[in-house]
Amino acid sequence: MAAQPPRRCRDVAERSGLIERAHALGVPRNYGRARGLRILHEPRSLVSIGPDIHDRVQWLQPRAARSLTRMQEAAASDGVTLQIVSAFRSIEYQLGIVERKLARGLTMDEILRASAAPGYSEHHTGRCVDFTAPGYAPLEEAFERSPAFAWLQRNANAFRFALSYRRGNPHGIAYEPWHWCWHARLPRR
Ligand SMILES: [Zn+2]
Repeated sequence: MAAQPPRRCRDVAERSGLIERAHALGVPRNYGRARGLRILHEPRSLVSIGPDIHDRVQWLQPRAARSLTRMQEAAASDGVTLQIVSAFRSIEYQLGIVERKLARGLTMDEILRASAAPGYSEHHTGRCVDFTAPGYAPLEEAFERSPAFAWLQRNANAFRFALSYRRGNPHGIAYEPWHWCWHARLPRR
């Protein structure tokens, strides 16, 4: 049997409830405004993009998935492997990440430097992917020295993927060379 796509919010009310729970945990009320981040929608449909490096099936919205496949094929033909660490993660899942980090004793400030607050993460749009490459630890800045990163910098825009969180980005989110988001229209830099 084919794997079922992960669950998403059934309506705006459910989404608001999850965002409200994040505020109750300590996400500042003015978070979106202060960080220049917007509440983002979960996609209606998701398609499988195959297994990640941990052998879990990952999902993206259909147009992003098609573009990712083309980009991975183009990279492969240049001898570059783009491995996937993570793609779609629901708002509910993101809330769980925050809860687990709080339980481990991290402060909300620390948590919000490393991850976008639930409701504001690009991961629940089903349009972004965290990449890694053979020989590199996932989600480490050292990825910027990989041939995969160099390839993405030269070519990802042609597939409408863009790096979301540059060094010193205005959102106060740590530099993430591994995190690339597909856009129907690329943002202007
Ligand atoms: Zn990411």
